[in-house]
Amino acid sequence: MRPALRLFNTASLSVEEFKADGTVGMYCCGPTVYNYQHIGNMRTYIFEDILRRALKAAGFKVNHVVNITDVGHLTDDADSGDDKMEKGAEREGKTVWDIAQKYTNTFMQNIDALNIEHPEAFPRATDHIPEMIAMVQTLIDKGFTYTTDDGIYFDTAKFPDYVKFARLDPEQLMAGARIDMGEKHSNTDFALWKFSPKDKKRAMEWDSPWGVGFPGWHIECSAMSLKYLSQPLDIHCGGADHIRIHHTNEIAQVEAATGKKFCRHWLHGEWLVMEKGEKMSKSKGLFVTLDVLKKEGINPLAYRLYCFSAHYRSPLKFSWTGIESAAQSYASLKKQVASSAAKTDSDLSSTRIDEVLTAFWAAVNDDLNMPRALAAIWDMLKDGSITADEKRAALKIADTILALDLLKVEAADSVTEKISSGGSKVVFTGSKEFSDEHVTRVLSIVDARKAAKLEKNWAESDRLRDELVAMGVIAKDMKDGSTECVLK
Ligand code: AMP
Ligand code: ZN
Repeated sequence: MRPALRLFNTASLSVEEFKADGTVGMYCCGPTVYNYQHIGNMRTYIFEDILRRALKAAGFKVNHVVNITDVGHLTDDADSGDDKMEKGAEREGKTVWDIAQKYTNTFMQNIDALNIEHPEAFPRATDHIPEMIAMVQTLIDKGFTYTTDDGIYFDTAKFPDYVKFARLDPEQLMAGARIDMGEKHSNTDFALWKFSPKDKKRAMEWDSPWGVGFPGWHIECSAMSLKYLSQPLDIHCGGADHIRIHHTNEIAQVEAATGKKFCRHWLHGEWLVMEKGEKMSKSKGLFVTLDVLKKEGINPLAYRLYCFSAHYRSPLKFSWTGIESAAQSYASLKKQVASSAAKTDSDLSSTRIDEVLTAFWAAVNDDLNMPRALAAIWDMLKDGSITADEKRAALKIADTILALDLLKVEAADSVTEKISSGGSKVVFTGSKEFSDEHVTRVLSIVDARKAAKLEKNWAESDRLRDELVAMGVIAKDMKDGSTECVLK
């Protein structure tokens, strides 16, 4: 028997049984496509993917929407600074539209590599400007706004519940008001529509009843979520950084505009942090991408597994030693599955399978406790009294949530060993077929790289490593002195 799905709700600060009539409408704040998404962003999408899979496993149909923010997200969440998209275009000497396309594409490749299921809709902000203008007009008509020299602002003083969601301290808000806020009446007021600057032509701007400009970032998510989902939304998710400003502002503007509750259940993923505890962040330049991990020979699914080492509501520390040990755990998990689970499918049910899956579902449905869910799988693999057929049957079900390709036997699992003429042991793994000629070339580069390293000629060893990368080979020096070459 599976227990009911229980989820923490940021709105009540407690774990509640999740209930919904019919299809679950779920909105998740998506990427701002001005740069690569880092693996911290990916941590949040992985947590949302687990939520989506757990909802489906609990028998719900899901209508899941993830927006693509391609305009209006300023470098400062409090409405000052530049538009991140325009800055991205300047940085790369490309048009904003090219930048949006480039980083949307890499975002899609990244989520696919992490086995993150696609939502039912991926709306782009720039395709929904009329909906945003309509919502701003409603707020103007209802008297919730004021106009300054640079835009139309939501007047938070007119929405007394503003402090409620993030448990903001009204005293502190007043203290905050002493900092420079331009023409804003209060520190918490936020832009609904920004006018284009008078001295500069923006690449992205639209006509509106109030002048040429562009939407504020918060109104984008509200207009798109209400276009695709019915109100109140069942679920709204994002990273924990969104509680204080972005989601607080979304609640204020939607509830002011519609007079109805915006969303029933809010979930927020904690951050991936750097070793000293600071948030992994693009704006601070402290970030690692999935492609960097891949270049280091780390399988994206090893990063997915790494994310399961902490509960989604706890911070997770990123370190190279941590991720390397996750890569080893992933390899060992796959190895254990390969050696202990049956190779062919058989429809099987047994008390032992039920026991394993009861522990697994109890963990998943207890506010998505993935460390515990995974522990149930490790325990099962070690248990000699559970048959190979039973293990395979249980893994097949567990992988509908874990999505670690546990039962997939890849060419990557086939391993060939060679000894180079310089005497180095080189272990080839990977999915690509290599000609003998290629293998000989790789062996000679491995020898040359070892020699360069011995001479501490780092420039030469880096150059040789890049040469391998250009051939589609990721080389890793192993502790036993051998070299692992992953063919991609
Ligand atoms: P952005 O592209 O910055 O709008 O962020 C996309 C998603 O990633 C949002 O849900 C953010 O809250 C989340 N996010 C940003 N930084 C981190 C981090 N270091 N760890 C986890 N999630 C993050
Ligand atoms: Zn959002």
